[in-house]
Amino acid sequence: MAMLDRTARSLLLAEIIAGLWLTLKYFFKPKVTLNYPYEKGLISPRFRGEHALRRYPNGEERCIACKLCEAICPAQAITIEAEPRTDGSRRTTRYDIDMTKCIYCGFCQEACPVDAIVEGPNFEFATETREELMYDKEKLLTNGDRWESELAAAISADAPYR
Ligand code: SF4
Ligand code: SF4
Repeated sequence: MAMLDRTARSLLLAEIIAGLWLTLKYFFKPKVTLNYPYEKGLISPRFRGEHALRRYPNGEERCIACKLCEAICPAQAITIEAEPRTDGSRRTTRYDIDMTKCIYCGFCQEACPVDAIVEGPNFEFATETREELMYDKEKLLTNGDRWESELAAAISADAPYR
């Protein structure tokens, strides 16, 4: 009986018809795939991507060289050197992140009292050499300038849950 059933299904092309029907059914449904990189999915405000150092609206850098981020980093990826300015304020003279060590835990961002070091929405920073992943202060501040509007929006969206 089972053999007859199998033969009938083969002769009537039941599997092919079922497959074609499934294709037809999904042909008219909204697409779930994205045409990356031209289309991108939504990213959570808590997404932990490429690092950036932020500035205040007047252009002054936020970081006060407290070194909390350096102390908390479990991968010891952050290196900071600091000294007082002539006006008495304390700022970093060196702020490096070895992105090859970073595990994107977000602890540096959580530890920062002034929202200076943050992990932004950028995940497209693959490089061809390791050297390019040794970020210095200039690179991090440039990232901050580039992504400031997205960073500020993400911090604001997440604020009610903190
Ligand atoms: S995300 Fe984590 S591992 Fe990466 S620099 Fe910050 S604290 Fe270190
Ligand atoms: S980035 Fe934040 S936590 Fe790190 S040294 Fe600067 S102020 Fe302190």
